[in-house]
Amino acid sequence: MPLGTVQAMTQGQLFALLPLAAAAAYALLLVALVVRGGPSNSAGRWFLTVLAGSIVWSLSLIALPPTIYVHLNAKILAAVATLLAAATSAYIGWSTERRWLLMGAVPLALSVFLDLVWPYPPFLSERRGAWQLSFGELIAISTWASLHIAILSLLLRDYRHTRLPWHVNRIIHWALFVVLTAIGELLVLMPGLWILGLGQIFRLFAIVGLFHAVTSHRLFDVRARLRRSIAFTVIVLLSAIPAAAVLFLTIWLTERFALRLTFFWAAALVVVAGGFLVYQPFRRGVERIVYRYLVGREFHTSKVVSQYSQAIARTLDVEQLAQVILTTVSDLLGVSRGALLLVTRCEEGFETEMVPGVYHSSGSQRQRFSSDSQFINTLLEEHRPLLQYDLDFNPHFEALTQEERDWLVAQDMDLYVPIHDGDNLDGIIALGPKKSSQAYRANELELIQVLAEQTVVALQNARLYSELNRQNERIRSLNTDLRKQYDRLEILDRMKSDFITIASHELRTPLTQIKGYSDILAHLNEMAPLDQEKARDLMGHITRASNRLEMLITAMLDASELEVSGMELMKSPARLEMIIQNAAAPLAHALDERHIILHCENLEEIPVLEVDFQRLVQALGNIIGNAVKYTPDHGVITASAIVVPGAGGNDDFVELVIADTGIGIDPQYHELIFEKFFRIGNPELHSTGATKFKGGGPGLGLHIAKGVIEAHGGHIWVESSGEDEQQMPGSQFHILLPVGEGTEFGELKRVESERVGDWETGD
Ligand code: ADP
Repeated sequence: MPLGTVQAMTQGQLFALLPLAAAAAYALLLVALVVRGGPSNSAGRWFLTVLAGSIVWSLSLIALPPTIYVHLNAKILAAVATLLAAATSAYIGWSTERRWLLMGAVPLALSVFLDLVWPYPPFLSERRGAWQLSFGELIAISTWASLHIAILSLLLRDYRHTRLPWHVNRIIHWALFVVLTAIGELLVLMPGLWILGLGQIFRLFAIVGLFHAVTSHRLFDVRARLRRSIAFTVIVLLSAIPAAAVLFLTIWLTERFALRLTFFWAAALVVVAGGFLVYQPFRRGVERIVYRYLVGREFHTSKVVSQYSQAIARTLDVEQLAQVILTTVSDLLGVSRGALLLVTRCEEGFETEMVPGVYHSSGSQRQRFSSDSQFINTLLEEHRPLLQYDLDFNPHFEALTQEERDWLVAQDMDLYVPIHDGDNLDGIIALGPKKSSQAYRANELELIQVLAEQTVVALQNARLYSELNRQNERIRSLNTDLRKQYDRLEILDRMKSDFITIASHELRTPLTQIKGYSDILAHLNEMAPLDQEKARDLMGHITRASNRLEMLITAMLDASELEVSGMELMKSPARLEMIIQNAAAPLAHALDERHIILHCENLEEIPVLEVDFQRLVQALGNIIGNAVKYTPDHGVITASAIVVPGAGGNDDFVELVIADTGIGIDPQYHELIFEKFFRIGNPELHSTGATKFKGGGPGLGLHIAKGVIEAHGGHIWVESSGEDEQQMPGSQFHILLPVGEGTEFGELKRVESERVGDWETGD
């Protein structure tokens, strides 16, 4: 046997052992994964199947003779790629594991079927071996390739849409090792022992990378490492240029001028000596420039801290303080946005309040956290910055509630830095990602924490100061409220004494009339028997005065009924149009006499109401009566209504507005006019009259109207810009009444005809 063949055999045997070693390494990783509790999450479980698949694949490389293994090997590889796709989906959080399985299983089944039916290569070739692939194998290899392309494209999509640097790094890290796995597998598929061996080693290395990603949330910063490596290479190359140039120059000069070797050594000595002087500053300069562009700016911590302390010492306002903190950090590190969260202890635990700083506007302003919140307690206990990445992927934060998680995601921040004084957490500096999309470096995190610690006293002072301001503001507004209540009480007090005046005035006037006319009647009758005409005239006066007296006493009784027992209602279906017509009927003469137009709008479109007809006629009669009294001749009164949909699935309401073109009502009396016996102005000056312009009444009309409407579950209020007898701004009385259950049309007709009957018989 020639020596070369023996060597080749030994090499061949050596490489044949490699798959076995790889299978053992995969088995070791599998055991390590189980021991480290990997299968507790879905990504870990899927990765376990990838490792198992890798063992089978490696063993298939040695166990099967080449002709068979080529057939089977590609299929096992495609199956492992399918499992890797499912593991990727679980790791990144796509939740599409089943879809991937289906996408891999269908072509794999087809490939097995084709190889069973027609296991011949479609392309004829002189060379035999791995490159003569059957249809089935072609499908298996295409499946393997397509799965990798699909995984990487989706990872690229996620990479583009992710903004937080550590989240991006997680994607890059996973994608990097998926690519390396694919390269390793591709090399194994190639012909040639060396390439096959290299492929095995490559793949094993890549699988170790994926294993690390699945078992540990702390990954190295791929981009930062890359930048540092580039920086290092650039510095080495740039530093070598001057040395090489001098060396070449010396050689050239020696050769050019045919100088002796002693000259060369002398020149070299001069260059080395000069180099020591020039080279160091040159290298430092190169380092500074390269690091600045590739890695990031360096800063002098003590200078930054002293400038910062000076700036915050002058600030007493929380919002201003937030501005100073965040502008300093933002200028220094190029942060895209940030906010200050004020933390307060409350009964349930903690409450945070957001004070926007730079470029920040989103998120709800306040958020509650329970006293055992992982987020707050970690900041409180560990006194170090917390990354959103840790909150999302560190198993320590698994206990975060969904509400807390959602809130944190909504803030879209990258970093939370505690402002604490040992036992208490006063605030949190929340920072978004850097504009450069690079992750925060360790020295930057340290600097931010030092700044946060400098902020404690300033923040406590500012919070005390703003609390003081808030208290002052509250006291001021309480004082205003007190003033208003005082004014109201004063008016109510005045009303009490007015009541005596009004009551005696209102009651005495008709009584005096009755007494006067009866005296005249008696006197005239004594002198001579009265003729019929005269007697009718006098009796008419007496009847009108006693009617007025009766009305007053009824109103007083109604008002006291409201107070004592509330109002009892007798509900029946009624149309709003009908109620208004009945309420306005007694005023027809007055409207005519004073040339006031009563105008109704949309009333016929309003649904039938379930109300106490008589009481509503009385209430609306009072309101329309007032509109007549406080509107000058030739004015207009409008009654209009709309249906207001009830909020939150409640019943609908009807909003009736009775508007006049009268003198209007001063806003300070908008609530008081509904009080019992309240009348605007001097009670003595009112002339008693039911419909005369500004004719006063006992101050009971609106009080009764309010009682009736509220007894129906409704609400009444007035709108008017003020009282002005020149401009006549008018008043609008709004009445809300619940629609209640719908009423049959027949039922309504029956009730209406009964009502007409009642009036005809005078009941
Ligand atoms: P009164 O029996 O005096 O009319 P009300 O309770 O009906 O008593 O009204 C209370 C006061 O509200 C009235 O004295 C009047 O000053 C004011 N008022 C009521 N309606 C109007 C209106 N449409 N325009 C102007 N002022 C009104």
